[in-house]
Amino acid sequence: MLNNPFNKNSSVKKYQSLIDQINILENDLKTLSDSELRAKSFKLTKQYEDNQNLDSLIAESFALTREASSRTLGLRHFDVQLIGGLVLNNQKIAEMKTGEGKTLVATLPAVLNATTKKGVHIVTVNDYLANRDQVSMSQVYRFLGLDTGLIQEGMSPSERKESYNADITYVTNYELAFDFLRDNRALNLTEVVLRPFNYCIIDEVDSILIDEAQTPLIISNNISTPVQKYIIAAESTEYLEPNIHYKVDEKNKNVVLTEEGSKRTEEILSIQNLYDPEDPWIPYIMNALKANTLFFKNVHYIVQNNRIVIVDEFTGRIMPDRRWGDGLHQAIEAKEKLSIRQNTESVASITYQNFFLLYPKLAGMTGTGKTAEIEFEKIYSLPVTEIPTAKPILRKDLPDLIFKDQFSKWNAISQACNNIAATGQPILVGTTTVEKSEMLAQLLNEYKLSYEILNAKPENVRRESEIVAQAGARRSITIATNMAGRGTDIILGGNINFKIQKKLYEILTLSKNSKNSNIFQSQLLNTFEGCSQKFLSVLVSLLNNTEFLELSDVDILRILKENDRISIPTISYQPSIRFLINELISYNKKNQKQENKIVKNLGGLYIIGTERNESRRVDNQLRGRCGRQGDPGTSRFFLSLDDNLLRLFGGPKIQNFMQTQLADDAPLESKLITKSLDSAQERVEERAYQQRKNLFDYDEVLNKQRKIVYNARRRILESISVQKNIYAHGEQVITDLLLELNDKTISLIENFFGQDLVLNYSRDFNSVQKEFALSEIKLYLFNEFWLTYQAKKTEFSIYGDGIIEELERSIILINTDKIWCEHLQKMTLLREAVGWRAYGQKNPLYEYKQDAFFIFENREEFLRHLIIYDLFRAYII
Ligand code: ADP
Ligand code: MG
Repeated sequence: MLNNPFNKNSSVKKYQSLIDQINILENDLKTLSDSELRAKSFKLTKQYEDNQNLDSLIAESFALTREASSRTLGLRHFDVQLIGGLVLNNQKIAEMKTGEGKTLVATLPAVLNATTKKGVHIVTVNDYLANRDQVSMSQVYRFLGLDTGLIQEGMSPSERKESYNADITYVTNYELAFDFLRDNRALNLTEVVLRPFNYCIIDEVDSILIDEAQTPLIISNNISTPVQKYIIAAESTEYLEPNIHYKVDEKNKNVVLTEEGSKRTEEILSIQNLYDPEDPWIPYIMNALKANTLFFKNVHYIVQNNRIVIVDEFTGRIMPDRRWGDGLHQAIEAKEKLSIRQNTESVASITYQNFFLLYPKLAGMTGTGKTAEIEFEKIYSLPVTEIPTAKPILRKDLPDLIFKDQFSKWNAISQACNNIAATGQPILVGTTTVEKSEMLAQLLNEYKLSYEILNAKPENVRRESEIVAQAGARRSITIATNMAGRGTDIILGGNINFKIQKKLYEILTLSKNSKNSNIFQSQLLNTFEGCSQKFLSVLVSLLNNTEFLELSDVDILRILKENDRISIPTISYQPSIRFLINELISYNKKNQKQENKIVKNLGGLYIIGTERNESRRVDNQLRGRCGRQGDPGTSRFFLSLDDNLLRLFGGPKIQNFMQTQLADDAPLESKLITKSLDSAQERVEERAYQQRKNLFDYDEVLNKQRKIVYNARRRILESISVQKNIYAHGEQVITDLLLELNDKTISLIENFFGQDLVLNYSRDFNSVQKEFALSEIKLYLFNEFWLTYQAKKTEFSIYGDGIIEELERSIILINTDKIWCEHLQKMTLLREAVGWRAYGQKNPLYEYKQDAFFIFENREEFLRHLIIYDLFRAYII
């Protein structure tokens, strides 16, 4: 039975009449030819040009997209997907469960907003998803006469620019924000790759705006680092005893050095004062202690290629581009006895929070947004709307099982895996750390179960999506960290796209390298009983294609993965490869259908949670991996009393209760525990939210400043001549210097202009002041400045037109960047400093804001002085 979404959910009721309109339009559109549909699409663009009113086009545009999708992909948007599309167009977050087809939903508002020709960005969490979504959805867009762009890691600026100029661009949050920062360091307009922001849809919006919001994105330069200090600090902390010399506060991730500890450390280092500002040791010692007691290998980081790579605690993913700040990263390098990398200084930075707020129109989608509703609303002004599922959810969420300790818990988990696997039902186990997933793997080995393990280790991350995609195949057991493979479509019975890519890769590389094609053909016929004669002949012709034969195995793999990227085949072997893929798809489809049925009968995917995560949202994310589109599925969490969450936040009452209630291995299903876990989780969530809110409040100050600087910078970058700015700066420099009028003022000014001023009055200012009013002196100096500037321009004009303009522009831009970089470091220091002031009964945020204002004002004065100084000293060799 299909449920009627409108009965259930009042918040979507208001869309009813629009949905009706779209449904009515659909009948008319069905009768039109492909080219007539495209003509309609162009008409909408024209209509928008005329009336600039997007709302009046919604129904027709959505209906067109739905029809285009039906014809190209064979997917017709469900009504609930239309609602999702409307919610996205209304600048809200659409919560649609995993597997409901959010990729397809995004096409609706994307097409509508693309009619403005101002660009639409669809943001995903990784390159694989951006690629996958662009490849599939571009067919819909192309049908309607819209072009699509894709940004991938490693693309050149010109490729990026082209992709951003497309009507609709698929890109990851990381690439997008970096392009923004880089654009704002461009010295030439041609280097800028982004257009002004217009409309953005963020997929997996909670991942990006909540989980990743904490760490700012930074572009940085290296600066010198006291390597020895890190090493010595690491060594000396080995002689300190916990609770005597230092105390660890695990909850707040902090370490405190006791008085005894300070003394002992000073002895070990044979220094007088740990806190000596001339030669400070305290930050190195504190970081070394933190590194030893709070940051563990294979939990918080892994060592890869002799480097420390951070593992995100929430997602279990590695974050190769991030480093812990304030010397912590180096301290961990010292602890692991790795070479210590240079400290860096940020030259540009932004948080995702503030980055995405730059879009005039923003929307997001996720399977798990409701529990973070308040945060979305407060920080981003993005309300969350729950969209009903197309089919009723059949997933069974079984009550938590609670064990006495880790030992009995993990035993029970592996036993459960063994029991479930015996029936062939696929299992997905979510773990929180690399260590735990490897431990479970060991336990499963004892049962002789085969499994796929997916954790933050680099050798696994590459295959992440492929492994997760097959998690629904019969008999498969997948161990994955929390959000590994997020966004990948887990199809019961297995995902044929990946299977086909793999199979075809094997066929192609094998046949290319096989000497005797006859033997190979018979082999092939054996493997593919059902494959057609045409399949063989296309394969043979491909093997005679010289261009194809030149490809390496890696090239072939890449081509298979990117197959649909090239819309019009330009390379001779492309159509053959596409044909082979299509053949294999239809060959495999029958098989897939059957497998799908079998797995459904087995009960679908079984999800096992091994620990409550730090937010309900992440738990829901894991559960949501099964029960896709009305599929059956089961989820169950296995917990233990000494799980982090219970241990740190459960409180002693629970611990005592449990100790008395729990027999050795038998689990307990306890409402009390579940309730206390819920509230512990809520407290952790609340705290994490407060931290992010705090970061946001502080960042807001910097954000305003960044906006001012970037806007001013952009205006300079875009102007043909900045002469007006130079005049203004020069006059202001004089005014600044005259504020403090004394004997040195004139030579100071001369110093700025790089040459002597012709003065027809005395250089002794005391006597000058008696004779002239300040305004007269000022005017006179302005005049001198204009003349000097004119002379400079004449000097440069010899070298050609536009040289001086170019020079002036670069001087302003380079100095803007330099001063901004210094400003960023100052703000970081200020941030630390105000933290201390909190002890003096002062409100640190208020203090921060005030001081930030003065630092920023100073920056402006400093900047114009540098600009004038540099300009008047510039010459051509
Ligand atoms: P989500 O992002 O919501 O988890 P996806 O976009 O990955 O979901 O889509 C999940 C699956 O649903 C895909 O296999 C997709 O082809 C399928 N799907 C989406 N929309 C439809 C539709 N209208 N009809 C049939 N299948 C659909
Ligand atoms: Mg998705």
